[in-house]
Amino acid sequence: DSLAQVSDGVPAPNRTQDRRQQVTAGPLTHFVNTPDTDPSLPGNREWGARIIGRIATSTLGTDLVAAHSVDDASAVDAIIDDTHAAGGAWGARPAAERAAVLRAAAVEFEKRRGELLEVAGSECGKTLDQSDPEVSEAIDFLNYYADLAEGLDTVDGATPQPVRLTLVVPPWNFPLAIPTGGIAAALAAGSAVIVKPAPQAARCGSVLVETLWAAGVPKDVLRLVHVPENEVGRALVASPKVDRLILTGAFDTAALFRTFRSDLPLLAETSGKNSIIVTPNADLDLAVKDLVNSAFGHAGQKCSAASLGILVGSVATSDRFRSQLVDAVESLKVGLPSDPATQMGPVIEPAGGKLLKALTILDEGESWLVEPRQLDDEGRLWSPGVKTGVKRGSEYHLTEYFGPVLGLIEAADLDEAIAIQNETDYGLTAGLHSLERTELETWIDRVEAGNAYINRTTVGAIVRRQPFGGWKKSAVGAGTKAGGPNYLVGLTDWAPREATQ
Ligand code: GLU
Repeated sequence: DSLAQVSDGVPAPNRTQDRRQQVTAGPLTHFVNTPDTDPSLPGNREWGARIIGRIATSTLGTDLVAAHSVDDASAVDAIIDDTHAAGGAWGARPAAERAAVLRAAAVEFEKRRGELLEVAGSECGKTLDQSDPEVSEAIDFLNYYADLAEGLDTVDGATPQPVRLTLVVPPWNFPLAIPTGGIAAALAAGSAVIVKPAPQAARCGSVLVETLWAAGVPKDVLRLVHVPENEVGRALVASPKVDRLILTGAFDTAALFRTFRSDLPLLAETSGKNSIIVTPNADLDLAVKDLVNSAFGHAGQKCSAASLGILVGSVATSDRFRSQLVDAVESLKVGLPSDPATQMGPVIEPAGGKLLKALTILDEGESWLVEPRQLDDEGRLWSPGVKTGVKRGSEYHLTEYFGPVLGLIEAADLDEAIAIQNETDYGLTAGLHSLERTELETWIDRVEAGNAYINRTTVGAIVRRQPFGGWKKSAVGAGTKAGGPNYLVGLTDWAPREATQ
């Protein structure tokens, strides 16, 4: 969404969890973010319509998935050995050469933007307005980390040493941007990479790796493996030859990986339970728009999504706010990404467990402002829901859902609102809507989140402008923010090897 591209009225402080790593690798004077496709141009709309027309029947990536599936642990060990060996030569190449390969890959991604959107729509249910910014972000990661690589020669007087092998374990919800970010960072830092795409995004992961190979990333330096999540997958994670592991996923996955190997050098972005505070001093029209985008973009399946609105004082009883929110939510067109009218697509798997509960069951004191409806037999298509009367400390208040449901909770004043916002175990994104300076200052001082956003959505962080990463249980390991100036250092032997939490 275009609002995500506009910088904030008041900048959030660039806080990181590990203050030892507040170093900057090289000056950046020329970096420009890649623009999304502009749908106001008729040619772009025709281009988009052609892609949408292909989504329903696309098989892109299917052969690659078959060709790179590995289903026994000894084959995994052999791939680890080979890639670890290839990492030596890659890390010995001058940073400028590695950067040139990444920049060539950025050009290739732009050329194949249409194919990437097609596979993200077909396999992961992404509508073009959600997948197009992912390609832009992937391109930004490639170009930005290429720049950082060239600054790695000296960081605070030391020369970071490349590691041999980085394992990248990305999620399915950003099946293009997040794997590309991890791969690009590790390659830029001089490490070889094994990437294991999420099973729900296997074709996406394969198509993007193929794009990197086509641009000149050596095939022995970047390996693609699809492994089942059993002892074969475990062999990959548990190998002592893995120097770094980049994970984006659930906190529980990070904890599980640690049980496979206790000294795992992990850079993990994990779960979040994010909210937006709306005070009586907010621009309520904007607050409604940003709440809806933050809660229902990609059907709420973002670590950065806001699934809770914290309404301060009179906002909670404002008829105008309530009716605008209801209208905005009820007007969202739910469907498949192969239908050009669709504004909100399906969830990745039939809703079950805690998500199904959040969509169908009310807790004490809660009522539906907009009741979600199941629109297909399978349970993947849901109309968006809004529940009001969420109680502080309730399950809804504290749980991440990853689906199209927004809860509303009342707070007497900003102090209470901040307490509610900070009460979760996580600290990934947080939002505030207010036009009152002292409220902004109070909030900035106290909010416990890696990415704090004022008067905008909590989603759609932009590389370099809004480095992305959390506090508390939203981050595990020694990593710093993705898309920020310190990220590559954590992938070298300059940074402390042992994970800190
Ligand atoms: N970087 C994404 C954003 O800012 C979120 C990534 C995620 O969901 O893991 O919206």
